[in-house]
Amino acid sequence: MRKKMVAGNWKMYGNLLENKQLLAALVAELNGVREDVIVVCVPYVYLPSTQNELQNTTIAWGAQNVSQYEKGAYTGEISASMLSDFQCKYVIVGHSERRMLFGEDNDVVAEKYVAAQRAGITPILCVGETLEQREAKITEQVIEQQLMSVINVAGIESLSKAVIAYEPVWAIGTGKTASPEQAQEVHAFIRAGVAKQNLGVANQLIILYGGSVKANNAPQLFAMPDIDGGLIGGASLIASEFITICRASR
Ligand code: 13P
Repeated sequence: MRKKMVAGNWKMYGNLLENKQLLAALVAELNGVREDVIVVCVPYVYLPSTQNELQNTTIAWGAQNVSQYEKGAYTGEISASMLSDFQCKYVIVGHSERRMLFGEDNDVVAEKYVAAQRAGITPILCVGETLEQREAKITEQVIEQQLMSVINVAGIESLSKAVIAYEPVWAIGTGKTASPEQAQEVHAFIRAGVAKQNLGVANQLIILYGGSVKANNAPQLFAMPDIDGGLIGGASLIASEFITICRASR
C-alpha cells in the first residue's frame, strides 16, 4: 500500500499572523492523528517561523522553489542546502507558474530536482499540459517529455525519492478541476511509463493531483486507484478546507 499525501502550496500568500493562525489550526486538528503525509510548502521567508510552529508535530514543511546551483554569486537565489538548514523535507519543482512566468524549462527543472535530492530533500515534481495541448491531444507527449527530461538526468531510481504532481494547467486556480476519470487516466499513464522502466519504483511512487482541489471534490479524486493525494493551492490557505481535504485522503 502506498501512503497518501496532501501538500499545501501557499504560493505567494500569507503573512506572519495569518500563517500562525493557520498552522495552529492544522496542528490542533491533524497532528498525530493521520497516517498519511501532510506537508505545507510556504514562501521562503516563512520557513523559520513555520519550522517553529511545526517542529515536533507530524506535519512536514517545504519550499516552493530551489536554485539549481549549490552556491555562488547568484543574487536572490536560495540553495537546497539552505532549505535543509530549516529542515525542509520537500520542495516543489517545475510548477507550471514557474515554467510559464519565470521561464523554467525542462532542463532547469531537472537540475533543480537533482539539486534537491543532493541535499536530501524530496522534490515534488510538477507536470501537466495546457488547455491548448489537451485540445491538440498531445497531453501524453507533453507529460512524457517533462518526465523523461528528469529521468534522463537523474535516473529512474531517483523517483523512489521523489513525488510527482500531475497539475493540468487549465485546472489551476480556475475552479475547473479535472474529473476523477480524466485525472486517473493521466496518473495511470505516468505510473505505467515508470513501470516499464522499474516496476518496484512505479508501485511505490506517490502521484498527487493538483488543480482546483477543494473539500467537496477531494474524496472522489482521492478514491481513484492511481491518485495518491493532492497538491492544494487556494484551498490550503483556508484551515477548514485543508483539514477536510486531509481527512479525505483515506
Ligand atoms: P489551486 O488548488 O488553487 O487550483 O492550485 C493548484 C496548484 O497550483 C497547486 O500547486
